[in-house]
Amino acid sequence: MAETADLAIIGGGAAGLGAAQYGARANLDTLVIEEMAHGGQALLIEKLENYPGLPQVVDGYSWAETMRAQAEAFGARFVSTSVSSIRKDGQRFVISTGDGDITAKAVIVATGAKHRQLGTHGEAEFCGRGVSYCATCDGPFFKGKRMVVVGGGDSACDEAMFLSKLADSIVMVHRKDRFRAQKAIADRVLKNPRIQVLWDSVVESIQGAKTVEKVLIKNLKTGAIREEAAAAVFVFVGSDPQTAILPEGIAKDESGSVITNDRMETNMPGLFAAGDVRATPFRQVITAVSDGAVAAHCAAQYIDELEGQAYR
Ligand code: NAP
Repeated sequence: MAETADLAIIGGGAAGLGAAQYGARANLDTLVIEEMAHGGQALLIEKLENYPGLPQVVDGYSWAETMRAQAEAFGARFVSTSVSSIRKDGQRFVISTGDGDITAKAVIVATGAKHRQLGTHGEAEFCGRGVSYCATCDGPFFKGKRMVVVGGGDSACDEAMFLSKLADSIVMVHRKDRFRAQKAIADRVLKNPRIQVLWDSVVESIQGAKTVEKVLIKNLKTGAIREEAAAAVFVFVGSDPQTAILPEGIAKDESGSVITNDRMETNMPGLFAAGDVRATPFRQVITAVSDGAVAAHCAAQYIDELEGQAYR
């Protein structure tokens, strides 16, 4: 595949889909490169209830399908392949993929973030045999069973609520004495009689024979260890930005997120970042889409500048 485009967008999640619409509407030949299904982390959303203008709740998959169809209607193109690196060759970017190089005048990196692991004893051993990072994918396997959910952010609280409809009961383990999650989301968990929260606590080890059978939980204040029988452990302790494909020298913050200005520009002219991969105070579907729109708009201006077509 020797593709070329005005604007290449790497990642087909919320940020990439937002950028695709705005890139195509700016009359750029816009190519979205996604290695898996488009939709990114939005695909895991059971009910997308906080996206403005959608009072009738939709699931993340349907929302992503609509976004893609809308972007395609404006002229955006989608290819499915895996990107290994991005480099700049003169004024053009060269994106290496499993199917050959793609060249573009500007690039928006919208590669998102990948779930973090706890690093606790038994986590790797029981991954796929009771330890999971995706409630919608794996929750139904443990219907009617007792489950442990780890974390205190929006993901942990949202997913605990989802799992509470399947589980016999849920033990939620959080290392602090209150949730990090938005208040409205946290309150639902606190009011849910099927969820017991263990504050100031961490998972010490996950144990079982062939599959998860019990979890040892340590209270950080007292040092006491308690044993909880459980068939599954769902881990939602945040995520790490996906930046391995970026060229060397791209500025990042201490968490590894790409630093941009408010035009979504990185420190390399023509290279933009949008969504969860960039340093941002609030990670939502709406903010990712917005990042994508800003990045595409500014990428169009960058290309105009490059070609001596800038409006003055
Ligand atoms: P997050 O906000 O970074 O929260 C991660 C949680 O895991 C924190 O409570 C953190 O504890 C805990 N944690 C981190 N490392 C840990 C470890 N090694 N052991 C035990 N606990 C650990 O991540 P997130 O919940 O995945 O959310 C990511 C972003 O997506 C956020 O911006 C969030 O707002 C957004 N999001 C929004 C929604 C929604 O609006 N419905 C849903 C999901 C996600 P501390 O609090 O002590 O740091």
